[in-house]
Amino acid sequence: MTGVSSTLAVNLARKLAEAGIREQVVLQAVASTPRELFLDAALAHKAYENTALPIGQGQTLSQPYIVARMTELLIQSKPQKVLEIGTGSGYQAAILAQLVPELCTIERIKSLQIQARQRLKKLDLHNVSFKYGDGWKGWSNRGPYDGIMVTAAASTVPEALLNQLAEQGVLIIPVGDDAQQLLKITRFGNEYHSEVIEAVKFVPLINGELA
Ligand code: SAH
Repeated sequence: MTGVSSTLAVNLARKLAEAGIREQVVLQAVASTPRELFLDAALAHKAYENTALPIGQGQTLSQPYIVARMTELLIQSKPQKVLEIGTGSGYQAAILAQLVPELCTIERIKSLQIQARQRLKKLDLHNVSFKYGDGWKGWSNRGPYDGIMVTAAASTVPEALLNQLAEQGVLIIPVGDDAQQLLKITRFGNEYHSEVIEAVKFVPLINGELA
């Protein structure tokens, strides 16, 4: 990272700590990830503000606070293998790839997936597998997963994702249409314990991949 963006990323991490993010490794990953790389040049000057930003195709790069919060919730149980639904710009994937040994990520818009793959390669993050497809179905032949993170709001919790969770695996998912809540769901055998974390606002998890 260049000097200026490095300073800005460190400042962003400091703001997230003030906003309540406690996991040092998450703050460290935010501080060392060039968020402008995940945006169009015209928006690069806003890269280190704590706001969601458009990434094209009607999609958004989530607000840094929520990226950090979801990451913190997911990594607390030290997952080995993680699945992300909604690769989008690849920023959340870049944060996760620094914190877990193995990441799989699914995106339904091909052009976003191609860009995200290039960005992670540029950052030398090579522990990520990309799938173009429908996240409602998960990625069963790579599972089970110790952690699954959904970065778009689902109308209901996708059954396939519950099935692909490992024992004591954790699913972090925004659920709802207009009023959405972030849920943390933990698997205990065939039982699932659900905890409401906070109110959130995500773009919808759509059915099916885009041709
Ligand atoms: N994690 C992303 C956030 C992107 S916004 C980032 O860091 O930038 C949510 C993304 O979910 C969008 O790119 C959207 O295309 C994708 N998405 C929506 N429904 C999907 C589905 N059913 N399967 C896979 N991806 C989906």
